[in-house]
Amino acid sequence: MTKSNSRPGLSTRAIHAGEGPDPATRAAAPNIAMSTTFVADDLVGFSAHDQDDDAPFIYTRWGNPTVRMLEDKIAALEGTEACLCLGSGMAAASAVFLTALSAGDHTIVSDVSYAGVAELVRDTLPRLGIEVSLVDMTDLRAVEAAVRPKTKLIHTETPANPICRLTDLPAISAIARTAGALHSCDATFASPIGQSSAGLGVDLVMQSSTKYIGGHGDAVGGAISGPRELVEKLRAEAAIHYGGVLSPFNAWLIARGAATLPIRMRAHQEGAITIAEWLEGDPRVSRVIYPGHSSHPQHDLAKRQMENFGGMMAFQVGDAPTGAEIARRMIEELAVIHYAVSLGHHRSLIWWMPTDELNDSSFRLEGRQLEHFRDYAGDGFFRFSVGLEDPEDLIADLDRVLG
Ligand SMILES: *Cc1c(COP(=O)(O)O)cnc(C)c1O
Repeated sequence: MTKSNSRPGLSTRAIHAGEGPDPATRAAAPNIAMSTTFVADDLVGFSAHDQDDDAPFIYTRWGNPTVRMLEDKIAALEGTEACLCLGSGMAAASAVFLTALSAGDHTIVSDVSYAGVAELVRDTLPRLGIEVSLVDMTDLRAVEAAVRPKTKLIHTETPANPICRLTDLPAISAIARTAGALHSCDATFASPIGQSSAGLGVDLVMQSSTKYIGGHGDAVGGAISGPRELVEKLRAEAAIHYGGVLSPFNAWLIARGAATLPIRMRAHQEGAITIAEWLEGDPRVSRVIYPGHSSHPQHDLAKRQMENFGGMMAFQVGDAPTGAEIARRMIEELAVIHYAVSLGHHRSLIWWMPTDELNDSSFRLEGRQLEHFRDYAGDGFFRFSVGLEDPEDLIADLDRVLG
């Protein structure tokens, strides 16, 4: 994209950032550079530490033109200097933890997060000599109290998968700054459009680009955006040495999805508001948790921090056996919505989450933290990723299976 004095708007950035007509053929759409290696025109070093931004492409694990295009596009959307794309959201999450932390360090992590992240920090980090405190990020005093001299990283997730609980990002950023720790945030539910995480003080913004950024359910990928120095350190360790790089083909698919991210997020939000209102008004539904609805316990924070409320919601239908029965009916009878995991796609996806099972397998909360989790989760809930179909068709589907 050619530079001009004023920064282009989000939709323009989503379409043009990172790309431009091919200099050789004038092709308007980006090419896919599947090549693993690049012919050198000079003598260059062969170490992760020889790499900088202007270095020519040498080998695709170090950097690739198609992956670079996506990295530049995501950085432009997040409003950060740089971005590193990796092979999955979990590759991005593990890269953040393993690069920022060493044996003897301490990290504070949201006590409710994507199950893979929850299990990684609970099972793997302690094995490596890293101490972990799992804290309810809505309790700012508890976060402050958890800080230790060796705290190097505070990791948040907002809205948190799967219960759509929010974290006050500027407040946590301030605590991290005082502690001399980095603040990383998994903003997958929000996408770069839902909130300006870096603008709210987050040092490293993590995304599973499998979700909203790719948006079509056909490519797994992950991204970490932040200041160039931090991102280049991540690239040297996590991409070049741990090796979990993104395939150029997936980068191309995800970039194609990313071009329509702003307009898709507007449509996701519009559909989700319609559905949340319908669910709120239905007597079979006992609770709806959608950040964009006034019934969300943190709706004020959502309005302050989010620019788009997205398409993710959780809703409860009464006691757990009823929920499980409805889930079984969904598997048999849904016509439009897919009963499937994942989220952020153009297709609507729904999944039943029994609270006790989820807590036993992933979170293992007790006492006040469990109570607060239950406040959002009830005895079980449906995680609903509202897609881009006509809301009336989604409502007809839900109406039928709620019985
Ligand atoms: C899906 C997801 C991940 C993991 O991403 P993958 O691309 O599946 O590895 C991490 N965090 C959140 C919030 C997610 O929803």
